[in-house]
Amino acid sequence: MCLPPSSVAVVLGTRPELVKLAPLIHELGDATRLVHTGQHWDEAMSGRFLRDLDLPRPELLTGVGGRPRAGQIAQSLGQLDAAFAEDRPAAVVVQGDTNATLAGALAANAREIPLVHVEAGLRSFDRAMPEEHNRVMVDHVSDLLCAATGENVANLRAESLAEDRIELTGNTVVEVVRRQLPDGAARAALLAAHGLRPDAYVLATVHRPENTDTAEALGAVLAELDRIARAGTPVLFPMHPRTRAAVERFGLDGLLERLAVTGPVGYGDFLGLACHAALLVSDSGGVQEECTVLGRPLLVVRRSTERPEAVAAGFAALVRPGEELGTLARAWLSDTPERLARLAATPSPYGDGLASARIAALTAALAGPAGRQALPSAA
Ligand code: UDP
Repeated sequence: MCLPPSSVAVVLGTRPELVKLAPLIHELGDATRLVHTGQHWDEAMSGRFLRDLDLPRPELLTGVGGRPRAGQIAQSLGQLDAAFAEDRPAAVVVQGDTNATLAGALAANAREIPLVHVEAGLRSFDRAMPEEHNRVMVDHVSDLLCAATGENVANLRAESLAEDRIELTGNTVVEVVRRQLPDGAARAALLAAHGLRPDAYVLATVHRPENTDTAEALGAVLAELDRIARAGTPVLFPMHPRTRAAVERFGLDGLLERLAVTGPVGYGDFLGLACHAALLVSDSGGVQEECTVLGRPLLVVRRSTERPEAVAAGFAALVRPGEELGTLARAWLSDTPERLARLAATPSPYGDGLASARIAALTAALAGPAGRQALPSAA
């Protein structure tokens, strides 16, 4: 990459951003200036991911984690503005829809620094989700919108975003999964360490407010996982810190007794475990993409999704917590071999594994002297 060292600020603050931006940061090489807002800053959610994904040491903002949304955005924005005033980047890159994404975007916008949004154009059309507001706002101030799929491009066009700002790049998830998935021997050892057999267990994660904010919703998810485990299929449940706090707050510990509960696991381990699960159950955004690369079925415990591609391609289905989750889980587990064979033959809708190379080249063009004029769609 022929860009000056540390000239592209990559702003992030959470686990999924570290995962999806890792291949782009590697492409940008020493042009990367990594800034972590500290939104999720601890060993399990960030430290381990920085190391395992071989990422450079970030500049770390202070006083952001643990605040309500406006406080996180305000704290991050003030510090980013000061950092960009002192040392102006040639471009700023953000990814996804977190508070860190929005703060990075507003900081770039305030100082008229070219802004790249990776994973532009996702829409759940669910205005109750703060992430939906974050992604809409970020798309509208970005100079380069890197859309992962044709559906994402269509969403941007429907909001009248200028055609010359939109590029169809694919999603960096494809290459990060391919690179980080442990090899067969390591996966076999991982499953053995958890006492699991391939294609014979459920891997579950939940952490979104819609599933953890009330005892009813969280209780309904956990009761169905408990029922699956009682029926004889092991359920591995790496618990997000927010979910652990909610279980304690609502006194739902009893529903965990039959589940194999761990803390959040490292990325390679998560992929290794997901790669051999008979069924994934999750409300995560990233897992909806990863399941298409790994060829595994996923029940998405959400009322809406900004990623309809996995559902359309037959990898995933949206379910409500409670009976609907249990009924579909039992149905899908009853035809595991046929389902896995079908999914193994279905291509991922998220691209060809070259998204990060495309985004890096586009970012370099935008950061160069010709700016937007150097982008292919502006020609
Ligand atoms: N993940 C992980 N360890 C875990 C659970 C999830 O590495 O114990 C990964 C998962 O593979 C995905 C990312 O974390 O890439 C998703 O993060 P999260 O669910 O926090 O955010 P979302 O994707 O919903 O924005």
